Amino acid sequence: MSASNWDRIVDVVIVGSGGAALVAATMAADEGAEVLVVEKDELLGGTTAVSGGGIWLPNNHVMAEAGIPDSKDAALAYIKRVCDGRAPDPELLEVFVDTAPEMLKYLVEHTPATFHIQPLPDYYTPWGWEGHLPRPGRTVEANPYPVGERLPEWRDKIVKRGTLMSLGAATTLTEDFMPRTPEMEAELARREAEDVRPKGAALIAALLEGLLNRDVSIWLSSPAKDLITDEAGSAIGVVVEHDGNRTRVGARKGIVLACGGFEWNRDMVMTHLGYDVKPLSPGGNTGDGLAMAMKAGAQLGNTTSYWGTPVMFDPDITRNGEMVPQFEWGRGEPSSLVVNQKGKRFANEALPYNDFPKAFGVFDNTNHEFPNAGPCWQIFDNVVRSKVRVLSMLPGEPDPEWAIKADSIAELASMIDIEPSALVSTVERFNENAANGEDPDFERHRKGLMGPGAVKPLTEGPFYAVRIYPGMLGTNGGPMITQDGEVRLQGGGVIEGLYAAGNTAANVFGWAYPSGGGTIGNGTVFGYRAGIHAGSRPARDI
Ligand SMILES: Cc1cc2nc3c(=O)[nH]c(=O)nc-3n(C[C@H](O)[C@H](O)[C@H](O)COP(=O)(O)OP(=O)(O)OC[C@H]3O[C@@H](n4cnc5c(N)ncnc54)[C@H](O)[C@@H]3O)c2cc1C
Repeated sequence: MSASNWDRIVDVVIVGSGGAALVAATMAADEGAEVLVVEKDELLGGTTAVSGGGIWLPNNHVMAEAGIPDSKDAALAYIKRVCDGRAPDPELLEVFVDTAPEMLKYLVEHTPATFHIQPLPDYYTPWGWEGHLPRPGRTVEANPYPVGERLPEWRDKIVKRGTLMSLGAATTLTEDFMPRTPEMEAELARREAEDVRPKGAALIAALLEGLLNRDVSIWLSSPAKDLITDEAGSAIGVVVEHDGNRTRVGARKGIVLACGGFEWNRDMVMTHLGYDVKPLSPGGNTGDGLAMAMKAGAQLGNTTSYWGTPVMFDPDITRNGEMVPQFEWGRGEPSSLVVNQKGKRFANEALPYNDFPKAFGVFDNTNHEFPNAGPCWQIFDNVVRSKVRVLSMLPGEPDPEWAIKADSIAELASMIDIEPSALVSTVERFNENAANGEDPDFERHRKGLMGPGAVKPLTEGPFYAVRIYPGMLGTNGGPMITQDGEVRLQGGGVIEGLYAAGNTAANVFGWAYPSGGGTIGNGTVFGYRAGIHAGSRPARDI
């Protein structure tokens, strides 16, 4: 193919602008490659920019500096147990553990990003598995980044959190777990005034500054539409819609697909996941990377999986007239439980958020039905209502109009179309065991997110019901990758010149989520490796 076939030629094209993409772009540039980042949305940062920004990176130097001991062997033992034999390529687990500390050190030494330890333990600490770290563990978070001061011309071009109610807009995730002191309030006011962004947005902004310093080109509102392959099947370019034109961009060294999962593509969700799981991510992740990789002949993996979290809807929070999924609230509070439309509990309500939604999709082969397909309900008493926020229902404030409540469990059941005797019997059984501090049905008193769950009888009316749905932070299946992020070819070998990272790729952990930061952790680590590999290979004559 001759140069006249291209509208632009670079060494490496990075598709997407989340964490995996921007780390890959950094590394490719540092290997001396000319890099172009193309982002479909008019804003930069993807899901990463709205995220809590936790990054699970075992055995890293920030932990060591904070006096938290860790080792490769411990981290590997833990992640292997969490994956429980279902990692798409178990050899990549060791590659992850080896590369995680190296990547973090590199980012600290070569980009404006700085980090601190989040106060999170490994999520399966109560299970007591070999190698787990209790609080504080292996999760780091980027320190707040002064967008207003350092990137004023980009302040309206980086994704903002939007309508998500949870996760403070100016707090770090670490601060979300701390009491609000006057000093903290003053600091948060300063951040708001000066546009200092925390969490995932801090990571994105710091990486962006690094890329601008490296003269990396960034095209916003420029979706990649198609891969261009040569006769041998190598990926040599991308068709990008840019400034209203179909632009053929040649890639002398490679193309990194880091354009998120397929959570906003309903057909793909129903095909691969098999049931309706509601996405919390910004909306650009429609499986374009998966479609392009499939067309090029990629071997796929892990496509039945997603990063889960239950979600709820608040009628008072809408976008374009539609309610927007919100993180759940109050699940696992002592006098709170979740039931299906038959009034039955179906899982330990204190489970990690990645695991709980998977129970909505189970098939009951005795009765040949999907009993938890919905509607499902979180039921709680006035003790929970008075103590914790549930959506815009705030402790100490009057109930919003949409609140569903009743003075008895039977009455509440009738209001939500559950057979009253079924719900009454579920609550009676729960209460009887909870009075002894136990949950023999689901072991909630022993296991839960970060610690054993708690159980207490639901005694104090009024009783409340809020609908709860399976939701996701993103899907995590797609093309299988090598240790350097190269896309594997169906039938053997790789698709030369094609890489995938982050939620576009078959997630290295499979369906498993070791702790807060598990998704950005492996996305950035394999983005790092893909960027080095793509950036350092010889340029092709395309
Ligand atoms: C509220 C919230 C909090 C979270 N908190 C955490 C956390 O603390 N820790 C953690 O590890 N995970 C967290 N997650 C999950 C995590 O944010 C995502 O799994 C992760 O950021 C995905 O990163 P990525 O780089 O793969 O893709 P993304 O960050 O989603 O970026 C993909 C980008 O690709 C773009 N794109 C899509 N198609 C195209 C195309 N054809 N051409 C060009 N660009 C395209 C998209 O517009 C998007 O900007 C959270 C998620 C949410 C929603």
